Amino acid sequence: MSKKVLVLPGDGIGPEIVAEAVKVLECLKQEYGLQVELEQGLIGGAAYEAKGRPLPEETLRLAKEADAVLLGAVGGPQYDKLERPLRPERGLLEIRSELNLFANLRPAILYPQLASASSLKPDLVAGLDIMIVRELTGGVYFGQPRGIRSRADGSREGFNTMIYSESEIERIARAAFDIARKRNRRLCSVDKANVLEVSELWREVMERVGKDYPDVELSHMYVDNAAMQLVRAPKQFDVVVTENMFGDILSDCAAMLTGSIGMLPSASLDENAKGMYEPIHGSAPDIAGKGVANPLATILSVEMMLRYSLGEPELAARVQAAVGKVLDQGLRTGDIHTPGMRQVGTAEMGDAVVAALRP
Ligand code: NAD
Repeated sequence: MSKKVLVLPGDGIGPEIVAEAVKVLECLKQEYGLQVELEQGLIGGAAYEAKGRPLPEETLRLAKEADAVLLGAVGGPQYDKLERPLRPERGLLEIRSELNLFANLRPAILYPQLASASSLKPDLVAGLDIMIVRELTGGVYFGQPRGIRSRADGSREGFNTMIYSESEIERIARAAFDIARKRNRRLCSVDKANVLEVSELWREVMERVGKDYPDVELSHMYVDNAAMQLVRAPKQFDVVVTENMFGDILSDCAAMLTGSIGMLPSASLDENAKGMYEPIHGSAPDIAGKGVANPLATILSVEMMLRYSLGEPELAARVQAAVGKVLDQGLRTGDIHTPGMRQVGTAEMGDAVVAALRP
């Protein structure tokens, strides 16, 4: 049965990079019989300009009907003065919460061809392949009560609440164990159980869920140590699962181990493996419209979509291999360019991936 993919190019370089990812999907349809129907929608600043809102109802309806959403990026300096509810980023937060996308998957993969782009020594990171699973809809970013209030002495205090229910912990645990099962069967749960009660419960639930996954090796690490280990010996990790705020910080740290923001995809999944797929970078207004943006993070977001929402792991592997092949050919966009390599633009990079994909 044909699956539906909603394509949301967004702002800045979004339309340029998404166009290349769509070429890849079209090639998979033509050459390998992938059954997907693509629909286009508006989000972010583009939606605000056309419809007065960063997430129009029509887009949300299409997203709810789709099996997966492919997003470029949103935002730009021209929208920074809008009231908060009208800002492009609000559209993104709203669609994530409306679709109940509670599991954020951020792989940090370093293609061997790009090992010199990392700020760490090549031998520490060459061949790096870790997956950070971050809880996305709970924890201190959403917990109530929150606010800024006056104290009896007239001074003010700010407060937030870090809170997780057992069921919230259990569903992210299951998502992470399932992913570990598809990889090297090692899961490290990161918490701060020596200080926080919420982490104590987190750890207890992880242990309990772990009993259903005897084939996956579960370990625990305090978040401060995890930050240290990520930059000391990142290859020790396979899958890392953690709560929202710890994951926010650790996933950016892991991403930077690879040295290039233009190479990294992400996925946000609901309980039924429906997902939204997007590069981790933003709309890069400084290079928008110039045809120089790196489309590979978006193309690799398609790779994740094939794997996690469309049930096509073999096609996913083909996309990953095609990206490896163009890097082997020495093709580089400006952000990953090094002397001796051939610098290409967005469309040329996309075309090269499509050519490498063809049987
Ligand atoms: P950014 O990720 O857009 O850009 C940071 C730097 O990386 C820039 O120099 C940019 O040119 C470069 N870069 C990013 N993607 C690239 C690519 N594919 N190829 C080559 N170079 C690339 O971050 P920013 O400048 O802080 O934010 C710009 C806008 O994007 C802001 O409005 C911000 O709110 C928004 N933003 C959106 C998302 C999202 O849509 N998920 C995420 C982050 C930021």
